[in-house]
Amino acid sequence: MATLYNVKNLKWTKAKNGYEVFVHSLSGRGAAAKLLLGGTWIRPREGGQIIFRPEDEDKTFHREFAKITNGKSALAFVNRFGLPRSVQKESLDGILEDSNNVAKLLRELDQKRRQVRSTTIGGLRDARPLVDLFNNAFDILFGFRLQTAKNDNSTALAELFPKTLMGGVLLKVAEEVTNGTQWKTCANPNCKIKMFSIGPDGRQRRLEHCPKSGTCKKAWQRLKNKRSKKGLSSKE
Ligand SMILES: [Zn+2]
Repeated sequence: MATLYNVKNLKWTKAKNGYEVFVHSLSGRGAAAKLLLGGTWIRPREGGQIIFRPEDEDKTFHREFAKITNGKSALAFVNRFGLPRSVQKESLDGILEDSNNVAKLLRELDQKRRQVRSTTIGGLRDARPLVDLFNNAFDILFGFRLQTAKNDNSTALAELFPKTLMGGVLLKVAEEVTNGTQWKTCANPNCKIKMFSIGPDGRQRRLEHCPKSGTCKKAWQRLKNKRSKKGLSSKE
């Protein structure tokens, strides 16, 4: 009966007119209010929102999230991917801290993968930081609901859904870690997908281009020929 949240169906919203940074100052309203609401935020501009799947924009959006280093790149990320459905605004400081934490996890994951061929949660030297990130703020990051299946009121589906941007990103990180999904950058510099996934069985590990794109395959072959002409051995 219960099907847990499917990351592939992650539906977010995107502001039609993009997002903006705003500073919420609460001088004179008390320290408690300031703690809760003061600071710099990213919020949607007025003009309505559309349903948007961040995976359609980039399947590795959690890795894009990890590249955020300042307010400008945070705003660029939100303008590109939107926010989870129930999020009205996001704290800029929060995004920067979360991005830093996710970057640390992914760095460690990638390092370990280069050393051993393990791809599951054991691929982290220490899975506790990921587990802690998930569990310590679970109520803030995630919600849990039951809903009936599409066109089938006799089936109830359990769904874990992100309540914050970090919640959405952590679902993707956890998916990558637990499913053993790895990502490779396509050899075709003009590739629209840029990165493609490699299954946990590692069968596509040696692949250098998007598995289904003929254009990317050709681009890789051209690159390989060029390299062998120069006498350089192509990398794995
Ligand atoms: Zn490609």
